[in-house]
Amino acid sequence: MDTFKPIIGLEVHVELATASKMFCGCPADHFGKEPNTQTCPVCLGLPGALPVPNKKAVEWTIMLGLALGCTVNEESKFDRKHYFYPDLPKGYQISQYDQPLCIDGKLGDIRIQRVHLEEDTGKLQHAVGVSLVDFNRSGVPLVEVVTEPDFRSIEEVDVYVKKLQQIIRYLGISGADMEKGTMRIEPSISLSTDGKIPNYRVELKNVNSFRFVRKALEYEIARQQREGHIQQTRGWSEDKNATVVQREKEEAHDYRYFPEPDIPPMRWSGRQISDIRSQIGELPDEKKERFMKKYGLSDYDATQLTETRQRAEFFEEVAKEGTPKAIANILINKKVTTKEELMKFLQNAPSISADELQETVERILKENPKAIEDYRNGKEQALMFLVGQALRQLKGKGDAQGISAIIRRLIV
Ligand SMILES: [Zn+2]
Repeated sequence: MDTFKPIIGLEVHVELATASKMFCGCPADHFGKEPNTQTCPVCLGLPGALPVPNKKAVEWTIMLGLALGCTVNEESKFDRKHYFYPDLPKGYQISQYDQPLCIDGKLGDIRIQRVHLEEDTGKLQHAVGVSLVDFNRSGVPLVEVVTEPDFRSIEEVDVYVKKLQQIIRYLGISGADMEKGTMRIEPSISLSTDGKIPNYRVELKNVNSFRFVRKALEYEIARQQREGHIQQTRGWSEDKNATVVQREKEEAHDYRYFPEPDIPPMRWSGRQISDIRSQIGELPDEKKERFMKKYGLSDYDATQLTETRQRAEFFEEVAKEGTPKAIANILINKKVTTKEELMKFLQNAPSISADELQETVERILKENPKAIEDYRNGKEQALMFLVGQALRQLKGKGDAQGISAIIRRLIV
């Protein structure tokens, strides 16, 4: 019997979509650019270069913290985090240690420990016999959102990361795209036998898609039951379809943090914080609730329509072109994304009421018991026959997909 409970915590890194980098004027958008074309003495870590914090990046980090219910630290500061790796030209990364911008938030039932700001590193590319480094990414603003070890299942992790991604995209501060690396997830997982937090944990790196997050966690739950509980850093290997050891505990880093001497501490007044809060706008869950109340939509429809801010705003723009329910149906089922497409659809749409449609289908079913029996016995063609009959009676006014859905519902 399985008596182990997974205890999972997450660190999520998000690259901010600011125009310039965190501490210099180089462009922050590095995706698909010629290597090392977007660098300067600051982000290359050359001696004497002075970092100047990007105000927008700091404000966006606070905005995300507020959206996650965090408290903004009255005073926060940047620190140097030291380690040696070829992707880090200065030998340290400017990050935040004991005074992060935001602390103590919550998303659903998951407690958020901190939201802090740091700079991204360069990117290593390994080829045969040689490793190349591209510093275009070096110094791009990177937010880190750290949870408490509150997850007890992979499903909870899934719900959380998708909700976090949705909120970040709503705020418009990052594309939060795992494939492009603008959102990166590092789970820590241990197994508990008594529900308490164990005294070890395994950190997982290189998990660069939602699917791999699931697979890596599933793999670890099985592996830790089999091999026991040892503190390690492991990476997800797509080739091996397994996690592999990267570092044991005794090699754990000592980062020798100390305050960044070139950047003064930051202080925030209540006024400044409420100014940033006022820029947050309506978040997905609030929007969904409002859509249900204001437009009388079902939970499902409102969830679909508020999936992205763009889609929700488009719905509100066109909701008055028909009944909200009908417009919602068209947007959800027909994948209509522009007003022109919608108008075309409304003009060509058969003028037939839901009642009329239902009555016609019921009549057709009554007249064709043999076809129903055939369909129940697995003959898909019988369904097509019934749809055809209905379309003929409606003189082409219905749509085949809708009719077939009604028939399925009625005769299952
Ligand atoms: Zn630069």
